Amino acid sequence: MQIEKSPDPATGLTSAEAAQRLQIHGRNIVGETRVTPAWKIFLRQFTGLLVLLLIGAALVALAVGEWVDAAAIGMVVVLNGVLGFVQEWRAETALTALREMLVGRARVIRDGHPVDIDSRDIVPGDLVLLDAGDQVPADAKLQSALELRIDESVLTGESISVAKSDHDPSCDTVMMGTLAVAGRAEAVVTATGASTAFGKIATLTGSVGEKETNLSRQLGRLGAQLGIAALVLGAAIAVTGILAGRDALDMLMTGLSMAVAVVPEGLPAVVTISLALGAAAMVRQKALARRLQAMETLGSASVICTDKTGTLTENMMTGETLWIAGRRYAALGTGYDPAGRILLEGRPLRHGDDTDLSDALEVMVGCSHASLYHEDGKWHMVGDPTEGALLTFAYKGWTPVPTAAALSEIPFSSERKRMSMVRWQQDRLVQLAKGAPEQLLDVCSHWRGPNGPEPLTEAAHKTIAAAYGAMADRGLRVIALARSEVSDADAPEADMEFVGLVGMIDPPRPEVGQAIRACRSAGIRVIMITGDSPRTARAIADALGLPVDRAVTGTELETMDDDSLRTLLSQQVLFARTAPEHKMRLVKLLQSEGRIVAMTGDGVNDAPALKQADVGVAMGIRGTDVSKDAADLVLLDDNFATLERAIREGRRQFANIRRFVRYLLASNAGEVIAILINLALGGPLIYLPTQILWMNLVTDGVTALALGLEPATPDQMTEPPRPAKQGIMDWTAVGLILTFGAYTGSASLYLFYAFAAEGDAVARTAAFTGMVMFEKVSVFAFRSFTQPCWRLGWFSNPKLILALFLMIGAQIAAVYWTPLQTVLRTAPLGWDHWQMIALLCVPLLVVPEAIKSLRLLGARRRRVKDEADVTLT
Ligand code: ATP
Repeated sequence: MQIEKSPDPATGLTSAEAAQRLQIHGRNIVGETRVTPAWKIFLRQFTGLLVLLLIGAALVALAVGEWVDAAAIGMVVVLNGVLGFVQEWRAETALTALREMLVGRARVIRDGHPVDIDSRDIVPGDLVLLDAGDQVPADAKLQSALELRIDESVLTGESISVAKSDHDPSCDTVMMGTLAVAGRAEAVVTATGASTAFGKIATLTGSVGEKETNLSRQLGRLGAQLGIAALVLGAAIAVTGILAGRDALDMLMTGLSMAVAVVPEGLPAVVTISLALGAAAMVRQKALARRLQAMETLGSASVICTDKTGTLTENMMTGETLWIAGRRYAALGTGYDPAGRILLEGRPLRHGDDTDLSDALEVMVGCSHASLYHEDGKWHMVGDPTEGALLTFAYKGWTPVPTAAALSEIPFSSERKRMSMVRWQQDRLVQLAKGAPEQLLDVCSHWRGPNGPEPLTEAAHKTIAAAYGAMADRGLRVIALARSEVSDADAPEADMEFVGLVGMIDPPRPEVGQAIRACRSAGIRVIMITGDSPRTARAIADALGLPVDRAVTGTELETMDDDSLRTLLSQQVLFARTAPEHKMRLVKLLQSEGRIVAMTGDGVNDAPALKQADVGVAMGIRGTDVSKDAADLVLLDDNFATLERAIREGRRQFANIRRFVRYLLASNAGEVIAILINLALGGPLIYLPTQILWMNLVTDGVTALALGLEPATPDQMTEPPRPAKQGIMDWTAVGLILTFGAYTGSASLYLFYAFAAEGDAVARTAAFTGMVMFEKVSVFAFRSFTQPCWRLGWFSNPKLILALFLMIGAQIAAVYWTPLQTVLRTAPLGWDHWQMIALLCVPLLVVPEAIKSLRLLGARRRRVKDEADVTLT
């Protein structure tokens, strides 16, 4: 694609030019990169064991001349396929739409200002600014680059990043979709959308591979076991029956019914829908799951490793104090509004009034990429909040902004924790640097003492450390400033003069204290891992009510072996002045102790730790594209409190999945038990395959879905996290399922024989309707395994009540409405049938309620007694 006109490197395109080019070239969108094409999703619906079973069933029905059954089963197969397709398609589109929310923003120069725009509005000729962590928004040619390295693995598969340079024509271009992993650059866009290299490779998906989670493994295993059980049991019944000389047709149909009864046909749909609904609900709460099952894993998290800046704090920094050689300058004003003042002992001062102050202010504007602009009556900042705060501070002192670009830069990284730029100041070449005090002092040989530049002696170090400590103890974020005159632009950071310290407020987010308390009462440890200083971190932890016995720095951590680090991790500890690789080590160690770890991160180098963690959590606003790519969950508001809400949701989802899996299996158990006993008694077929499908797919499926919408129980966040290996099923669950199954199966069988004299059709309809009603009533028992409904509130899940009414209505239709009567082969029931069914329903409601109430009472008595014992002793 041709570039119309190169933009002026200083001003970029104008808005008018950009709009015009957008008209010509269209938006910067690469055609739909759907992970799976629609036809594949559709065909996939017809490959499962269940569908094969059903197709087999339809064929058997056809073979024995039961064409209504065969047609009904055939319809179920098609309907199931269509429904499955719609669900998967919607889940897929929903996820794609959600991912869309992440695709990005890009920084370009428009009308002379750096602005963040939707990357889809980029046009050829735009001047884009690239920083470490950014995804390259379009194909572009470098104008200037500083230590730029690009990860091109999406295009080339090569995992080692490549160096790029604006001087070397063989590597002066960057491609859309690749990632800047280090350095920074300015580049002119040469192609957008479908014309880019990325756009041309249609197979590129950029999708996240689905990590196999505990849940998917368990559901897969359960499905396979039930499928095999269905086949074996169905075939065994048919074959032994026929061999024993019973009517072959009857036996084939019984075998078929059995196979259909064993499999909870509604389960896969119910799981997908309920996870998708949960994920959609969480997006409204600002947490975006990049995989449907991420939330469920999060529900079992036992440790959260969180960074501080922006997650626990607001990341709205305001420079408050400037310390130079014992003098404290105070800055008035809030946010990025430069309309404040700088005071020394109550006296306002400006750049030029005081050499020390002027030098400090010059570092603040001269060693920065941030910029401020005024729009809609407010001041806005583009860039890093730390730099924005320093720039605002400098503006308050009327500091002139350098007009010429910096000659060179040694960029900031979380490992180095400092940065510097070389510029001309009048006729002198100076290097201006800022960073964490420890790291900046490493490259200083002098300091700005009370009487001008002095060597950095032991005593001077102590004076600076005391000032630094006092600021950090107040929870201020402290940045040190330094400068030196240099002879050339490539000068290393060495022999610099330390100028002073700036203390910035970054207030804790008000809602985080409560969220941390909620996590702690839910048995989840919160470990702060920050790049900031130990004393600042500790002060913020105190303000948030996060107990800390020890603050360990990254350097100390490096000297420890795994065993001592494990011992350390058993205490209340926070990690400060860490580099990203420390996060990785901590995640691995915590995982080796069997913990499920959630880890937050925002930088490029956080990606490996985010991938390693059981749940990697990236930041929607502050996070780099690389970190979002590696994460399972993205916090759209960067807020720790959102993470706590996501955990709550995850726990609710898992609890609900357990509820409906058990509920659906209990229903199946009832059907299987009735069929088996009936077989032993030698009676005619108790349920037809279509009736079983109706129960499993329609009446139970819908009810189970509503059960998946159960609200969180009050004890959800007071219980410790479930053990990593805890499954959906355990022996208690099997006992529960069999108990319910034994009752509902026998009760249904009783109805069958009680009304046998009225003919097969009526007796079968009574048994079938009875089973549907039993399954509806027993759902109340599955709402909680400990709390009776009178405590949960009978109507606290209105959707469940609605589902029950609808399904009872559907069953009435099944019994009295001719089209359904024909398909399901039912006969109308009379009052006596309904009365008997209602009577048999009563124990299903009363007994579980009574047992749970008695247990609750017992537990309360024991608690009172224990408390009394404690008081006595
Ligand atoms: P967290 O890890 O909790 O997000 P953080 O922002 O302090 O905290 P880093 O981004 O790794 O972590 O920064 C480490 C330190 O580097 C900061 O505490 C600060 O002293 C210094 N620093 C941060 N940003 C800059 C910058 N733009 N220029 C120079 N120094 C910086």
